[in-house]
Amino acid sequence: SKSHGKNQLTLFSFKILDEFTSRINLENDLKKAVLNDELRLYYQPQVFSADGTVRGAEALIRWQHPNGKLIPPNVFIPLAEDMGIIHEIGNWVISEACSQMHYWHTQYHFPLTISINISPIQLLSENFIDIAFNLISESQIDIRSVEFEITENVFIYSLERTINSLKKLSDRGIKLSLDDFGMEYSSLNYLGTLDINVLKIDKAFVSSIMVDPRRTKILDAIIKLSHQLNLEVVAEGVETQRQLDYLRSKKCDILQGYYYDKPLPSSEFETLYLKNKDT
Ligand code: C2E
Ligand code: CA
Ligand code: CA
Ligand code: CA
Repeated sequence: SKSHGKNQLTLFSFKILDEFTSRINLENDLKKAVLNDELRLYYQPQVFSADGTVRGAEALIRWQHPNGKLIPPNVFIPLAEDMGIIHEIGNWVISEACSQMHYWHTQYHFPLTISINISPIQLLSENFIDIAFNLISESQIDIRSVEFEITENVFIYSLERTINSLKKLSDRGIKLSLDDFGMEYSSLNYLGTLDINVLKIDKAFVSSIMVDPRRTKILDAIIKLSHQLNLEVVAEGVETQRQLDYLRSKKCDILQGYYYDKPLPSSEFETLYLKNKDT
């Protein structure tokens, strides 16, 4: 009926209004979060498949909202990119992750690599390269322990600028990893041109093991191709023993996923992977 339709419409408008105000609230809160020190880095181990030793950790950002909720990056990183505060946040991540890893190096003497996610918007911004090198050098970490993870979709913005930026980073000793490989903008063509060291296969391929034979064949081929190009291969999203066994049998170099651990607060990562390291 007509009145039913009107109610629908009213409900609908309220829903939009609600989303709208909550987005504005979230934006305001996010600005404060940066100032008020509410951002945290969690660390997820990456493990060499050959011998089970820890290769390093990926730093993954969390927002500890004053309302008690831990807000995941998929919610606020896109917002930060829209708002333009991704630069501030991204710089904080580099500084925090490198300082933490430098501290662990001095305390425990394991040569662990720290993998840091870099937003395309951050990577392609004008002063990023200089700023990144400054932050790394301030943290005193050995630059060879630093790895930047770049997602494939950066090429949507500009292939040429991306190639140039990656070359500048790589020339000065930063390791580069191509994240989420196989998902968004795969072009086998650029793999040969880029100054990358590591290819990180998206977890969608890992979850296809024993489930989707065709996708598993693509996974096999990506590993082989990477090795022919002298790239190390990381598989992310490893959750089961069967996936682990399979990836090991295919000589996938590095494994990461809930099978080992979820991303951990720094103190827990330290306890599990550094203090009580049993070798
Ligand atoms: P990503 O870089 O692809 O990170 C992997 C995501 O998979 C992480 O989600 C991680 O917690 C999750 N994960 C790890 N192991 C498993 C597993 O075995 N199974 C499943 N189902 N998931 C697993 P998270 O931490 O929520 O991060 C989501 C995304 O947010 C990241 O995807 C990355 O794109 C972005 N992100 C996180 N931290 C940062 C950051 O500091 N800067 C930027 N620019 N982006 C970040
Ligand atoms: Ca990543
Ligand atoms: Ca990924
Ligand atoms: Ca992803």
